[in-house]
Amino acid sequence: MGISLRQTLFQILLGSIIVTAVMILLSVWGSTSRLVDEHLERELEVTQRVFAKVVADREQLMQNVSNVLAKNYGFRQVLMNLDDIKTLNSALESHFNSIAADLLVILNAQGNVVTTFPNTYDIGHTLSNNRLLEQLRLNGRASGLMVGTQQLYQAILLPIQAPTPIADYVIAFAFDEVFLEELSNILQAEILIYESIDSTDVNRLLVSSLGTDTAEKLINSPKSHVSWFDSTLLNSKTYVTRPLYLPGLADTSVKLAMAIDVTKHLENFTQLQLRILGITIVAIIVSLVFAMYLARRVSEPVGKLVDAVEYIADGEYQHHLVPSGKVKEIVELANAFTCMQKRIETRERRITYQAEHDQLTGLFNRYYIESLTQRISSLGQSFQVICIKIIGFRTINDLYGYAIGDFCLKVIAKRMQYFTDSAARLSGGELLYIAQPRHTVAQLESIKQSLEKEIHAGLISLSLKVAIAEIHCPEDADSAEEIFRKINIVVDEAIHHENRLVRYQHAFEERYYRRLNIITELKKALQSDCGELSMVYQPKVDLTTMKVCSAEALIRWHNSKLGVVPPDEFISVAEQAGLIADVTLWVLQATLLDLYHFREAGLRFTVAINLSTQDIQNWPLLDKLFQICTQIGLSTSDVELEITESDLVRDHGEAASNLTWLRAQGFKLAIDDFGTGYSSLAYLKNLPVDTIKIDKSFILSLSSEANDQQIVHTVLSLAKVFGMSVVAEGVEDELALQILKDWGCDVAQGYYISKPLPSSQLMLWLEHSQYA
Ligand code: C2E
Ligand code: CA
Ligand code: CA
Repeated sequence: MGISLRQTLFQILLGSIIVTAVMILLSVWGSTSRLVDEHLERELEVTQRVFAKVVADREQLMQNVSNVLAKNYGFRQVLMNLDDIKTLNSALESHFNSIAADLLVILNAQGNVVTTFPNTYDIGHTLSNNRLLEQLRLNGRASGLMVGTQQLYQAILLPIQAPTPIADYVIAFAFDEVFLEELSNILQAEILIYESIDSTDVNRLLVSSLGTDTAEKLINSPKSHVSWFDSTLLNSKTYVTRPLYLPGLADTSVKLAMAIDVTKHLENFTQLQLRILGITIVAIIVSLVFAMYLARRVSEPVGKLVDAVEYIADGEYQHHLVPSGKVKEIVELANAFTCMQKRIETRERRITYQAEHDQLTGLFNRYYIESLTQRISSLGQSFQVICIKIIGFRTINDLYGYAIGDFCLKVIAKRMQYFTDSAARLSGGELLYIAQPRHTVAQLESIKQSLEKEIHAGLISLSLKVAIAEIHCPEDADSAEEIFRKINIVVDEAIHHENRLVRYQHAFEERYYRRLNIITELKKALQSDCGELSMVYQPKVDLTTMKVCSAEALIRWHNSKLGVVPPDEFISVAEQAGLIADVTLWVLQATLLDLYHFREAGLRFTVAINLSTQDIQNWPLLDKLFQICTQIGLSTSDVELEITESDLVRDHGEAASNLTWLRAQGFKLAIDDFGTGYSSLAYLKNLPVDTIKIDKSFILSLSSEANDQQIVHTVLSLAKVFGMSVVAEGVEDELALQILKDWGCDVAQGYYISKPLPSSQLMLWLEHSQYA
């Protein structure tokens, strides 16, 4: 967790206030102490001078006293007799009282004390100040400072002559408290007299104009400068000391000092300090309030921004951020946020659109329609799911290119939007929508017609065919998953339904899964060649020679899972699943190999191979057929190819040219299942075909059905006119065979002659057959 904006602001303000206050204090303190110092220096000078003056004045006074004394004969007489101490003392006492001196001493010629008043020195004591005595000997008088027992004196020394000097008389005035106090009053400074004791660091106070305690502190720890600590935190008076110099004390242990009370000087400073302190506290409070105010101005809008970001993160874009406050950066930030919010919203809308829509058509996509179906079906409502498949859409892409394919899709999509707003494209040419309320069959029919209207793409005009599959919900399916599974099945049915419009039926599913199984199993069978597939051959008999002239190759499939699957069924599935080329290739290889074996066995009949619609358009496959024939060493005239009539009619163009090519290579071509389509023989004559095979539906009951007889008779007569040979298949009885023979049919094929047989059995059959 970081520290808050308010804390930061407050810390910065507090810091600067304190720094400023301290700087002001320091600067004020600097000038104050300098002032005090200057003042002290001045004071000291004055004190020094005044002190000297006072001492000089006292000396003058003492001089006068001594002059009076010199004229006092009686007193001088008393001093002559040094042995009479008693008289000396009383004389000294009366003199002491008359001149108000502090100490009177009589010294003998050797300088030893004879007597003193008051009794200060012992008899015989030598005075310490020899300088005064020397001065006395030299000048006949001396005056100066003299250190006594715990006292400093100002003394004057006079010789007592009778007439030669016999003694000296010392008159001394002490620097006592009274004197010092007077002096202090004059000087406005305290005077301290003290003695330094050599052996220790401690100074001993002799006398002072100050209280003893303060004085002793001052002499032992002199303060030459003012201390901030003392002036600010000590309540007592603050003194600053300076040494005083007096001649005559230089070589003694006694020292003088003056002490000046600087409390007054510092008083202003202390008050100033208090004021600064007060201002600082006020400034701190103000800055705290200011910091809070400023922080709110910033943090409140920032808080709103944070909220806004959370809304955006949750995908809520309705909350519009109103820039609050006046801080420019915050307002800019808020605007940037709003801008970002709008952009994210737009981008998300675009992404959502892309996620739900098909890029090409602008319809919804599979994902969206699946979830929509899920939503509606979960509500239990009744609705209809309609799937529209453009038949052969892939072929449009292949033939005309993707641009045309896309264009067709767009047109269809646009047409769909006239009758639904839930249309979605699933894949390729598959579209789906939900109808609620349901469309009737008639409505669907008209929708189909409107979708199938011709599309003009530049110079090309296309008529598409669509298949429509419908599922009614919840009756046919009640979950999205089920709907989408079943719709594929219905679409599959619809494509192959005549009407191309189909509603879901349960039977579709079984068929669908059967088809699915067939596809999977057939693929496996083709890939592994595990013996599931085999060929059988059904002999065809030439009705003039009554001998086998050909055999039709028919495929058989016995699957381990599905059992025997009839070729009718799996061939059509293979055609739908695009597997037919593989099947045909397998048939070609197997049949041509068998034919080779027939030739080796000395059998001369041809074989007929069935080709499906897709095969005759598959040029590489046809080429392969030719290759295999030549590789094995078979003649192309040994191979007949059967193609159904309907196939030929439907795919005229490419199929016809391929057929022409096949016939040019020597293959014989037959039209299978003749009569089931609608083409006339006159039309078929233009095709490169030699033979027609009358469909078995006309032959099976030929012996009994007059209708069939009439048709068959007509076909045979016309074929003769057009010069085509005719094969009748499905001959099941002798009478039919006889009729066909009588009417000039060329070839007959049917169970009456033989059922289709595997190659080995066919050879066995041939050994005993009358047709061999
Ligand atoms: P299709 O080409 O018309 O073949 C003739 C069908 O009629 C054969 O059925 C044959 O067994 C049957 N048939 C022949 N004589 C009689 C008869 O007297 N009475 C009855 N009731 N039926 C007779 P199959 O083998 O089941 O073949 C059915 C269809 O499957 C064939 O019709 C053909 O369209 C297709 N098919 C069979 N084998 C192949 C093949 O190898 N390739 C392709 N493309 N189609 C094949
Ligand atoms: Ca056939
Ligand atoms: Ca047939």
